[in-house]
Amino acid sequence: MCGHDHQTTVVAVSDSSFASLTTLRVGGAPRALIRCTSAEELAATVARLDAEGTPLLVVGGGSNLVVADGQLDLTAVLARNEGIEPVEELVDATILRIGAGTVWDDVVAFAVERDLGGIEALSGIPGSAGATPVQNVGAYGAEISEVLTRVRLWNRETNTDEWVPAESLELAYRYSNLKFTHRAVVLELELRLEKAELSRPLRHLGGQRLPLAEARAEILATRRAKGMVLDAADHDTWSAGSFFTNPVVDTAVADTIEAQVGEAGMPRFAQPDGREKLSAAWLIERAGFPRGYPGEGAPARLSTKHTLALTNRGSAAAADIVELAREVRGGVEKRFGVRLVPEPVWVGVEV
Ligand SMILES: Cc1cc2nc3c(=O)[nH]c(=O)nc-3n(C[C@H](O)[C@H](O)[C@H](O)COP(=O)(O)OP(=O)(O)OC[C@H]3O[C@@H](n4cnc5c(N)ncnc54)[C@H](O)[C@@H]3O)c2cc1C
Repeated sequence: MCGHDHQTTVVAVSDSSFASLTTLRVGGAPRALIRCTSAEELAATVARLDAEGTPLLVVGGGSNLVVADGQLDLTAVLARNEGIEPVEELVDATILRIGAGTVWDDVVAFAVERDLGGIEALSGIPGSAGATPVQNVGAYGAEISEVLTRVRLWNRETNTDEWVPAESLELAYRYSNLKFTHRAVVLELELRLEKAELSRPLRHLGGQRLPLAEARAEILATRRAKGMVLDAADHDTWSAGSFFTNPVVDTAVADTIEAQVGEAGMPRFAQPDGREKLSAAWLIERAGFPRGYPGEGAPARLSTKHTLALTNRGSAAAADIVELAREVRGGVEKRFGVRLVPEPVWVGVEV
């Protein structure tokens, strides 16, 4: 059981702040930090804090979090239950069960090494496996929803430990009904991965399929070039990844923007509901925010490799990130009438 009274699992708060728990490296101190190394500890800790009425935040890799500066009235519960286990062999697929605290990219490496396909395009996404359903992580045309079969949740509303089917999470583009609601904690998850030698068609390579290990290497290289693989030495990766989701608009709005910019080839992707998804990065650039904005010396800047990432150049506080986010969002709205929606989870601050 992990709790305040268990010395090995409670870390002194003076050692830790959200600046050291998040990839954006901003944010103040939680009241306490509790590290849970099994699914049962994670569930029991959340249950106990909820019963006490103690505000809490479950933290995985901290790669999709923007947390306010200063003292925070919450306890950080670190999901650190690790493990990857094949639990069922089917004719054409293997079911893997994964602890929420497992590093996500270790799961991808494990699968690729065993010729299990379906997640190779999600190589290099930072953070924990348990957070992947939270915003239905995706990249290069793939999403976790395609392989996620079921999730073991600690349901904070009913105080129950239950396996639920993936469909019950209402997974959609960078969304599930877990995101922003904190209604449940992911304890474990199961993925159905195909026995395959070739990757799924890779969208950015015109639908080409590569041997799994090559596909993984290719994705990692592509992501690195954009600052989308964590590297402590590269401030372009001190971020929360893509800072805004790609907006989905009516065709008439897309036509107006394309005509307004007067450039051929605006990225626009038809959606099942008849609307179109635009590229937030493209809109940001066309609204007058180039890579590296506002320039050398600023504590918070757009990545010098990708306009969609807001980055900490080493001395930024949450307030600097928020200010830059407001400026970029305001600029895009003023120019195109489109209000960008931040992708990360915000704690104690808002754009
Ligand atoms: C450089 C970089 C590149 C990125 N690229 C991508 C990308 O290509 N595609 C993409 O989709 N995302 C991307 N992201 C965003 C991020 O990596 C993912 O959202 C990731 O899944 C977050 O995992 P985490 O463990 O770090 O979550 P955290 O940041 O720790 O938490 C995020 C949210 O999930 C909740 N949460 C965490 N663990 C659990 C749990 N076990 N149960 C319930 N709730 C939980 C937290 O409370 C919080 O609300 C990128 C981020 C960075 C920094």
